Amino acid sequence: MIVAIDGPAATGKSTSAKLVAQKLGYTYLDTGAMYRCVTLSILRDDINLDDAPKLKALLDKLDIQLINKGEDSVVILNGEDVSSEIRQTEVTNHVSAVSALGLVRNALVQNQRRIANNQDCVIEGRDIGTIVFPDADVKFYLITNDRVRAERRQLDLESIGENKSIDTLIEEIHKRDKYDSERNHSPLRKAEDAIEVDTTNFTINGQVDHMVNKIKSIINRKINENE
Ligand code: C5P
Repeated sequence: MIVAIDGPAATGKSTSAKLVAQKLGYTYLDTGAMYRCVTLSILRDDINLDDAPKLKALLDKLDIQLINKGEDSVVILNGEDVSSEIRQTEVTNHVSAVSALGLVRNALVQNQRRIANNQDCVIEGRDIGTIVFPDADVKFYLITNDRVRAERRQLDLESIGENKSIDTLIEEIHKRDKYDSERNHSPLRKAEDAIEVDTTNFTINGQVDHMVNKIKSIINRKINENE
């Protein structure tokens, strides 16, 4: 079973994907964390995005491990825990430009398909239901109003010691969504067969239950069709 969860920035994809995976006993895969790791590496090595040979060498030696222990998700980049650092503003402000590169996408998409091969997975990102797993068993597309998205982002940033106003955050979120949806490679868009969920007025538990119920009813329908 592959459950794809896509949507714009800060719509609650990570939180719900993690909990849905836990409830179903599936593996959770946060593809945004992978793009953030590549971005952090590029920033640290000060690589120019036009420098294909250096980018390729960086991608070849990249080792990303996503470890989930209950509620905690730990991101290990080449042996180092970068879970907090990849969420900092410096990375967030550069990640869309890095994610727009075909070289980067090809490498990560291959990796994502390999990880999800032969196991039940909940995978969240921007292009999961459209490009990475167009045949996913269940596809969700999350949307949320701007103010709630900015409030959620503000709380996330506070937890890593950064403070930003709601207006600044709305502006940053819009900029990232525009970049992500206007790029040539795998732009953010809703798959035709995705179930749209507006998370604005859902509690997190309500949202997760809603998604788990949809998944269960789709699984049951598939079982009945095959009988
Ligand atoms: O989900 P998160 O906000 O951590 O994603 C960070 C960025 O990674 C996105 O803004 C987008 O540019 C990129 N991304 C992507 N494709 C994915 C997941 C994330 O391009 N499947």
